Order: sequence, then structure tokens, then C-alpha cells
Amino acid sequence: MSAEILPVAEPSQVRAYARRLMLRHPRALLGALALHALAAVAGLVTPRLLGDLVEDVGRGQANIDMVGAAIAVFVVVQGVLTRYAYLVSAWLGERVLAELREDFVKRVLALPLTTVERAGTGDLVSRTSRDVATLATSVRYAMPEMLIAIVVTALTVGALVLTGPLVALPCLIAVPLLWGVMRWYLPRAHKGYLRENERWAELTDGLAETVQGARTVEALRLAERRHRRGDADIAGSYAVERYTLGLRTVLIPVINFSFVLPIAATLLAGGLFYAQGMATLAQVTAATLYVQQLIAPVETLLNWLDELQLGGASLARVLGVGEAGESRPPRGGRRADGDALSVRGVRYAYRPGRDVLHGVDLDLRPGERLAIVGPSGAGKSTLGRLLAGIDRPRAGSVTVGSGEGSVPLTELTVDELRGQVALITQEHHVFRGTVRENLVMARPGASTEEAEAALGAVGWDGPGLDTRVGTGGETLSPAQAQQLALARLVLADPHTLILDEATSLLDPRAARRLERSLAAVLDGRTVVAIAHRLHTAHDADRVAVVEDGRITELGTHDELIAQGGSYAALWSSWHGSSPNA
Ligand code: ADP
Repeated sequence: MSAEILPVAEPSQVRAYARRLMLRHPRALLGALALHALAAVAGLVTPRLLGDLVEDVGRGQANIDMVGAAIAVFVVVQGVLTRYAYLVSAWLGERVLAELREDFVKRVLALPLTTVERAGTGDLVSRTSRDVATLATSVRYAMPEMLIAIVVTALTVGALVLTGPLVALPCLIAVPLLWGVMRWYLPRAHKGYLRENERWAELTDGLAETVQGARTVEALRLAERRHRRGDADIAGSYAVERYTLGLRTVLIPVINFSFVLPIAATLLAGGLFYAQGMATLAQVTAATLYVQQLIAPVETLLNWLDELQLGGASLARVLGVGEAGESRPPRGGRRADGDALSVRGVRYAYRPGRDVLHGVDLDLRPGERLAIVGPSGAGKSTLGRLLAGIDRPRAGSVTVGSGEGSVPLTELTVDELRGQVALITQEHHVFRGTVRENLVMARPGASTEEAEAALGAVGWDGPGLDTRVGTGGETLSPAQAQQLALARLVLADPHTLILDEATSLLDPRAARRLERSLAAVLDGRTVVAIAHRLHTAHDADRVAVVEDGRITELGTHDELIAQGGSYAALWSSWHGSSPNA
């Protein structure tokens, strides 16, 4: 099974984003560039001094002490300047990285739940860990080092040309070689690295699945099959890693050769120019030293070009997260007027072309209990998720409010939605932090009294508000965890609750107490219960029968019994066979 991978951003988007990121702190950027430039200039004086020294020694009139002292001074100045230049660029790098991470977290949190479920956690986990780490290396090291290398290269070439255009020419011999090999390498590496990351995501996905489903794997004796999947993923990952390694085995020797070549060329041609009287000894010496000095920054540039490719591939994947599906507005969403949910012509498909809901209409009356019944697979849970605003219908709408003030649930911000409707699920994750922190995430800014009232409403018997719970803190029992989740709902105070009985199965040992907590939460709200036990339907104000993705019957228990349709048949068979009815 291959998960639908989250989108990857286009190269043009990546470039635009990188540019914006760089220019967000123009003063720091300019400062870093200026310091690096000054440091580079200080470093460029030495070859000139050495060149002149060689010339003077040739004429027998050299002042070696003075030149030596001058070189020492420039080396120290260069050292000090370099130190500050690095400091400023490191600050810039860390700053940009922090902003990038924040940006990413925002993107991830804005993802529609369905997209995350469909993409598989592996892809997202690999983007949050591996891609962000790669990006961190690029931003922390590649970006500042590239800046330095560009400045130093430009200034060194400038110094070389100033020394003598003629002696500067031979080093150009390396340009076509380097240009050619990089043109060959970069596009291949880009694709290779993207594939590497994809394979990595598959590997992580497979591993996560095996670990999470360990019991199932054991129970169904799937170990052998999971092993084979793991082996296949590793083999796939190995193959793409080998491919990019193969690219580097061509790239690196060619580059190394390209570095030696210009030094040899400058010396050789310089010797000829000198012999012809077209260049001085000082010029040839300085030029050779400059060419030698060029190696380091150019090598840095090429190395980091590779790293930037990796970073670019990762950035594309990180940015891609933001493009996954239409997410709800992060802020400034619309406000609903009134608290009646209304479903109009809703269709929904998990897979394109395979609708599981075929045009559902339903109006909830504020304060009512509506039970949804029907055979398994009819679409009850799907309708529940749409009613809770988790998924967006493929066609039609689920709105809250009445008349002019009605708003589709998917156009509300998460905060707004939480105050309107909530799905009670089996999931009651306890977040690491205090009980209070676990509670008020449902309504930031809630007071201590409100938090305590919410706990009181569900009959909380766990530790106090400021006790640390979750990983590393006090362990809550499953029943307490569920109570905490219910108290969170009380605090969020939605007017409508969707209760999927299949997924909100209560811990049987604590069932009675939790039943009471749940009743307290449901009290005074509109409740849609996806009923798997018919007595829920009997007690409800209205019953909706869902069959094959449609609502086929809708009315009170008595009306539906009188109608003599599917519900009546279901009821009589259950009633007849139920010992306690
Ligand atoms: P019910 O709650 O009535 O048992 P569901 O709403 O869970 O029905 O399912 C309705 C249909 O949608 C079923 O055919 C089911 O197989 C399909 N379905 C449910 N969830 C998914 C999913 N995550 N991916 C693909 N198909 C799904």
C-alpha cells in the first residue's frame, strides 16, 4: 500500500520563498556581507606583498622585516574581522532558521485532518524530522558559507584582474570544465535527492506502521510479510542513495582536477609572459597565489551548491505541506449567527469517483437528540465527521446558523468551530503539561474558576489543576483521561455534539461514572448520536435512518414504527430478540 504523498512545492516557489527569507533581515545581511568583504580584502593584501617581495629580492633591494610585519598585521586584522563576520552571519542563520521552523509548524497545524490521515504519518514525520534537519544545515551553514565564498571569490577575482589582466587569463581554463560538470550533476542530483527523501518517507512509514500495529502483526503472523516490506524499503532506499553517491564519484574527481589545472596554467603561462617581458615577476607570483587562494572559496561554493540542492529539495517538501488541500482559514474566519446545523445535498468521497454519501439533507433542531441508525458501512460515521466540520463535503454544504448568518463549517477558524460543534471520540490523549494546560487548550484564557467548574461538571476525581500529567508527569487512568477530554468539551462549550458510539466506547470498569460525566456534557446541547444500540434511538427525539449513503427515513421513534419501514423492521427484530426489552 503506498500512501498518497503530500504535495511538493514548485522550484519557482522555493526560490521565491528563499529570497524572501534572505531579505527579511536586510541590515544583518548587509552587515555580514560588509564584514566578510573587509576580511577578504585584508586577506588579499598578502599575495600582493609577497609578489612585490619576490620582485625586490630579485633586484636585491628587499626589506623583508617590514613586509613580514605588514603581513602579520593584515593576518590579525583579517582574523578579527572574520570572527565578527561569522558572528553576524550565524545570528542571521539562526534567526532565519527559527522563523522557518515556526512557519512550518503553522503549516502543519493548519493541515486538514483528512489530508494527514490519507498521507500517512510517515511522510509528515519525515518532513518534520529529516527535511527540517537538512534545511537547518543549509540555513545554518550553507547560507552563511555561500555568502562568504561569493564575496571572497568576487574580491579575489577582482584582485587577480587588478594584478594584471594578462596573468589573470590562464585560470579561466577551469571554467568550462567546472561549468560542464555542474550542469551535468545538479539536475540529476536534484531528482536523486527528492527520490531519496521519498524513499526515506516510505521506509519510515513502513516502520511506524509495523511498530504501531505490532499486536496485529503478531496476532495475524504478519511478521514475515512486514520483514519483507522492510527489506524492500531498505533496498529501495539503498538504490537511490547509491545513485546519488555514483553522481558524486564523477563530480569530485573532476572538481579536484579543475582546481589543480589553473595553478599549473597560471605558472606555465606566467613563466612564458615573464620570459617575453609581458609580465613582471611580482605579477606572476601574486597571480599564482591568488589562483591558489581561489580554490578554497570556489570549493566551498561547489560543496554547498550540493548541500543547497539537498536543502532546496527539503524546502520544497516543507513548503509543499502548506499546499495540501484547502485548509480552514487561520484567522478572520466568518462568524455564524445562530446555532442550528444544516446539511444540504451533501456528497462525500474518500476516493475520487466513489461517493459514500449521495446527497444528504438534514436540519438539526437546536437542543434535540437525533439518533442516526443504519447498517454498518452505510455512511453514518462519515456523516458524523462532516457534521463536526472535520471533512469538507465534495458537493453540497454543512452550515451553521440561520438565513443570512449561516456559514459553512469549513470556513470557520478552528477556534470558532470548537465553540460550535465537536466530535466526541475515543481519542483522549493527555498532553504533557499540567491538568490546567490540558484543559484550557480548548479555550485559551479560561479562568481558574471556569476550569474548575468544567472539572466539577464531569465529576473529576483526578489530581489538581497544577499537577503535571502526561509523559514524565503523573499517569492518569484511561477513565480520567476521558474525563479530562470531556471537561475540555465543557470548557469549549459547543452547542452541538456528535457522538459516535462505536468510537466512544467507554472503559467498562469505569463505565457508570463516565456515563454520568458524559450525560453532564451532553446536557443542554444538540446531540447527534451515531447509534449502534437501538435503545439510544428509542430515547432520542428523532431518528434518521442512513442506508447506502442516503437518509431514507426521518422522524420520531413512534412515527417510524408507524411507517413500517426499515427502522420498524430493525426495531421489531431487535425488540423480539432482546432479553431485556
Ligand atoms: P458507518 O459508520 O455507517 O459504518 P462509514 O461512514 O464508516 O459507515 O463508511 C461509509 C463507507 O465509506 C464505507 O463503505 C466505508 O468502507 C467507506 N470508508 C469509511 N472510511 C473510509 C476511509 N478512511 N477511506 C476509504 N473509505 C472509507
